[in-house]
Formats: sequence, structure tokens, C-alpha cells
Amino acid sequence: MAQRTKAIRGMHDILPEQTGLWQYLEGTLSKVLCSYGYGEIRMPILEVTELFKRSVGEVTDIVEKEMYTFADRNNESLTLRPEGTASCVRAAEENGLLFNQIQRLWYCGPMFRYERPQKGRYRQFHQLGVEAFGMAGPDIDAEQILISARFWQELGLSEHVKLQLNSIGTKECRARYNVALVEFLGARVDQLDADSQERLKKNPLRILDSKSPETQALLDEAPVLADFIDEESRDHLEQLCGILDANGVQYELNTRLVRGLDYYSKTVFEWVTDALGAQGTVCAGGRYDGLVEQLGGKPTPAVGFALGMERLILLLENISMPVNTKPVIDLYCIAFGYEEKKAQMVLAEKLRKLYPDLVIVMHCGEGSFKNQLKKADKSGARFALVMGEDELANNVVALKPLRERSEQERFATNDLVAIAARIAN
Ligand code: ATP
Ligand code: MG
Repeated sequence: MAQRTKAIRGMHDILPEQTGLWQYLEGTLSKVLCSYGYGEIRMPILEVTELFKRSVGEVTDIVEKEMYTFADRNNESLTLRPEGTASCVRAAEENGLLFNQIQRLWYCGPMFRYERPQKGRYRQFHQLGVEAFGMAGPDIDAEQILISARFWQELGLSEHVKLQLNSIGTKECRARYNVALVEFLGARVDQLDADSQERLKKNPLRILDSKSPETQALLDEAPVLADFIDEESRDHLEQLCGILDANGVQYELNTRLVRGLDYYSKTVFEWVTDALGAQGTVCAGGRYDGLVEQLGGKPTPAVGFALGMERLILLLENISMPVNTKPVIDLYCIAFGYEEKKAQMVLAEKLRKLYPDLVIVMHCGEGSFKNQLKKADKSGARFALVMGEDELANNVVALKPLRERSEQERFATNDLVAIAARIAN
């Protein structure tokens, strides 16, 4: 036998038994977004590599080690998108959506990062991203956090996620903080974990994110970012908190919350859960006022967030979300002989046209009556629709209940209303 070709490590098929839950999730989220006036945008999954280097940042984990980058046949360097914000800004700018306008956009689709695959962390995963452009105030930050809170409400997840919030201020105050942090930690390099020692040289702010308890203990003594934040950023955070308070949204102010991507400023936030082990962040975002300009556009304030669809699916499974993931087949159509099959397929098409909500499955291929009936039963169908020689000759069809103890009935093939009425009962 020939050897089987397998899927790429960390990239998964989503099978029919799981897609019901995915559709439920996608449907719920898109409905909420629509209700807030956000419009869907769809971008290519491939972009020129330069885009991510310029936006995400050269010394971030993503650009340094996680991107799928390759040369195409024309020797241009392309990258499978590791996240959506850069593409969204590129697309909005390129299509003239940003100049002198405000935009509320969202997208959903696969992202690619070369990471060590584990539960909740994959090499192809899906994000739903939400971005708003042209609004500088804390009201739009609040709106986005309220949207995310509404997601959890609609999905029944509110009790399982917690909001963490911080302001990382402007570039200038981060630069001043970096100096103080490097001065403090530089004198204690030997007490840092290996990762943080590396970050000290390249991206010291990310040390705040360290998972090492020793490093975190050291940070207890270190200068605090909040003390370096400018007044405007502080006011912005205060007003944001006021709107969240008024809406009863609870949050924890975490002065060590920073984001892995370079382009954030002022507000950053994450929704985390205890239910997924180390991969606890289900949703993350913040303000990125400098990015549009950095990518060649006019200065445009912006704020956005992305959520990890796989992690939400895991959460929904964890709380055993009762979602009907498999559609119930209403009719399984059985016919014997070519003429019977033809009449049966015509009848099925008429029923589908008139009653688009019915699930009608045709038995295709050969099979004895007994065999076809067995298949009908195994399919879980509620009724078998039977067309035999006798039925064909009399322009009728037999409807045989498979899940209830009642006799089969015959209906005229042109009486679609009667057939549908019986099925509806
Ligand atoms: P993490 O700290 O878990 O690596 P991140 O900071 O790299 O997350 P973001 O770039 O902010 O993540 O992406 C937003 C969300 O996308 C994350 O909160 C998470 O839910 C999801 N996500 C990120 N990377 C992966 C991945 N490799 N597999 C599955 N989901 C992911
Ligand atoms: Mg990551």
C-alpha cells in the first residue's frame, strides 16, 4: 500500500461533528458584531513579509521565530499572516477606508505561527479580530471591551473569563520606563531566567510577561510602569474604567500586562481563563494609535482585539455547551429501480424547494429494501420516504416513521403540503 500523506504538525482538520459548534460560535459572534455596527472585511492570508516586520516589530516572538515565510516563484518574500491587524490596516489603507473616516471592522480566519503545538496552541489557528479606526477617545476602547463582554454573555462563558486591564502609555513613557527597568534588572542579570536575559537586550518590557516565578518575584522590587505613564494616558484609562464601572464590567488593573506586539499604546487588555492550563488567554487587544502611520498612512488612532477561536471552542466543550452539532435528517429517500429513483429525485427536489429547512438525504447506489431501510435507520432519519414499483404506478409515495411506533402512510406525490405536514408533526 502507498504511504499516507499526513497533515502538517500543529494544523488540524475540523470534522463535520465539530463544525456545528464552530458555526454556532461564528454565528453568535458575528451577530453581536453586526448589532454594534461593525462590518466584515476579508483579507488574503498571504502578505509580503515586509508588512509584518514593519508592524508587529522586528524583535517580537512572532517575527523572530514564529512566521511561515518563503520565497514565491518570483523570489518575493511572502508570509502566511501570523495575525490580522497588520493585514487589516494594509487593506483599509489601500482601499481608502481610513482617510477622514471612522471604520468599525471585523474579520475571522486562519492565522499561522510556527510554535510548539500543544493544547490551545497550534500552527494554524483561527482568530476573530475586531478593529476600529479614527476614534481616539476611551469611549471606543470601552465599546470594544463591552463587545467582548457581550460575547461571553451570549456564549454563557461570563463566569469562566476575567478581564485584565492596563495602560502602557505612549512610546516616550515606555522608553523612559525601559531605561529604569534595564538599570534595575541589569544589576541583577544572574537572577533572571534565560528568556528574560535575552529580552533585557532586545525588548525589556516583555520581561514583565515572564512566566518564571523568580523573575516575577524580582519584578516585585522593580520600578513600576504605572509610575511612568503620562497624564493623558492616565486620564484615558480612568475614563475607560468609568464606563466599564457604569456597565458593571469587572476588571483587574494589572500593571504588568504588556502585549507581545510592538504597535500598542495606552490601553491594553486580556480576557483570561483558569480552565485551559497555560494557554489561558482567550482574547487580547488594545490601542495602536501609531500603526497606521507606521505603515505609510496618515496618523489614525485605532483600537482592536483578537480572540482565539480554538481556545473558545475548548472552553465551550469544557462547560459542555449543549449545542446541536449534527443536523437531524428528516427524510431518508429509498427507491428501487431507475424509474422509481428518477421520480423520487424529482419529488425530493420539489420538497427541498418548497421546504428549505427540511434535511433530505437520498440513498444513492444499489441496495435491497432491507438494506436501504437499515441505512435509513442508521442515519438517524425521522422518516424513510419509499418509492417502489407499486408507488410509482399509483403516483404515491410511502412515508415510514423510523422513530415512532406508527404505521407507514401513503401520500399523493403531488401533495407536498400533506407530506410536509406529516413530517412537521
Ligand atoms: P499567547 O501568549 O498565548 O502566545 P499571544 O499574545 O501570542 O498569545 P495574540 O497575538 O494576542 O496572542 O493573539 C490573540 C489570541 O489568539 C490569543 O489570546 C489566543 O487566544 C489566540 N492565539 C494566539 N496564538 C495562538 C496559537 N498558536 N494557537 C491558538 N490560539 C492562539
Ligand atoms: Mg504567542
